[in-house]
Amino acid sequence: MSNFWVYFVLFVSGFLESLCNNATNTSNARLLLVSFDGFRADYLERYAFPNLQKMISDGALVKHVKNVFVTKTFPNHYSIVTGRYAESHGIVDNSMYDAATNKTFSTFSDKDKFWWNEATPIWVTNQRQGHKSGGAMWPGTDVPIQNTTPSYYLNYNHSVPFRTRVDHIIEWFSNSPDPMNFGTLYWEEPDSTGHRHGPDSEEINKTLKKVDDNIGYLMDQLQKFGLSNIVNLIITSDHGMAQCSEKKVIRLDNCIGRDNYTRITYSPVTAILPIENVHYVYTLLSKCDKHMKVYLKEDIPDRFHYKHNTRIQPILLVADEGWTIVQNGSIPSLGDHGYDNALPSMQPLLVAYGPVFRKAYKTDSINSVDVYPLMCHILGLKEEPNNGTFRNVRCMMASESCVGLPDVIGIVIGSLMILITLSCLIILLKKRASSPHRAFARLQLQDDDDDDPLID
Ligand code: AMP
Ligand code: ZN
Ligand code: ZN
Repeated sequence: MSNFWVYFVLFVSGFLESLCNNATNTSNARLLLVSFDGFRADYLERYAFPNLQKMISDGALVKHVKNVFVTKTFPNHYSIVTGRYAESHGIVDNSMYDAATNKTFSTFSDKDKFWWNEATPIWVTNQRQGHKSGGAMWPGTDVPIQNTTPSYYLNYNHSVPFRTRVDHIIEWFSNSPDPMNFGTLYWEEPDSTGHRHGPDSEEINKTLKKVDDNIGYLMDQLQKFGLSNIVNLIITSDHGMAQCSEKKVIRLDNCIGRDNYTRITYSPVTAILPIENVHYVYTLLSKCDKHMKVYLKEDIPDRFHYKHNTRIQPILLVADEGWTIVQNGSIPSLGDHGYDNALPSMQPLLVAYGPVFRKAYKTDSINSVDVYPLMCHILGLKEEPNNGTFRNVRCMMASESCVGLPDVIGIVIGSLMILITLSCLIILLKKRASSPHRAFARLQLQDDDDDDPLID
């Protein structure tokens, strides 16, 4: 009979689990990935964010996203949509040089698919697996990567207002008979203000209000077009922002002649292509300034995952937080990023909101490359090879059974209390049961004692 109950419980739990999995089969889900460029994680404490906070209380928050090195726009946006570190997706900085082909890449000249083809972004995978994708200014969405642009996209133009971008997104999600199920949306703020005025400025607070107002506009439009219970949202960013200062400047001209090298990227991570002698250039630069680390390509720390690509130059200069590398003259901006991705100031946050996401869920940290397997899971897509780990993000999903640390502590304390109560009860009952019995035994013994002489 007891075996019957074990099998019964196993059968019911298996049935319920399969029911749950079916109920949350997310392949019909729709997803919008939004990036507010340069949204540093702790900006959340700088301003009230009424709209974003509403999403946080009804959704999931990742307080710090460990992004990829270098902490710049193009490498990080491509990591989010491919799940790969920069060395593995090939967009190793905002500016690049490829010695074999003599090609150059910059934010003003980024449309050659050659640079992007080392990886497959999720919008291409989504289309290959039978769906429609859309791209509103997300880096790479106006390039025919693997000969494929998103089904719907805009050519990059920084002067198109955020709200116009949202209107396109709404149109593409509503497009009949071919609505997209996955869209990307990008805005240049608060990065631009962060560069111009610095992250510690008053101006940043005004821009953060604009960011939140725009989130409000997005939510209103989704609501207005009946999409708010259908479209899942991931709101994140590519990197943070550090305060720079005129007192923290490293001037290369003080250490080495310009005719010895070509600068491929700029501050605060400067890629150096020596003209002739790599070791001579390295020796001069390594003695230049104690606030600048100088690496030969083969010595770049493994934790940066920034070595195994021909687009990474022979020497890399990495400034300490807040320091600026120039050839000469003054600093170009009051705020900058690109620094070590272990620095909290370089990391953004992530908010996930919608039917597939857990409500009121908070976690301290994930990797930005983990967002890719999360998105594939939501969209029911087979992943391309990537550096992300779904296990790190699965608790953000409502369909996954996850027990948090407070729950575990609660269960342990609860179980202990039940055990202690039961033990006390058992002891008490035993005592009660044994008290009259012993009295009876004593009486018997007394009787026996008394009887002894009689028997003898
Ligand atoms: P960063 O300083 O690394 O944050 O770069 C941000 C800048 O990259 C923005 O202000 C834009 O000028 C530029 N940018 C962003 N998205 C694109 C894009 N899709 N195409 C070209 N340039 C872009
Ligand atoms: Zn950026
Ligand atoms: Zn920037």
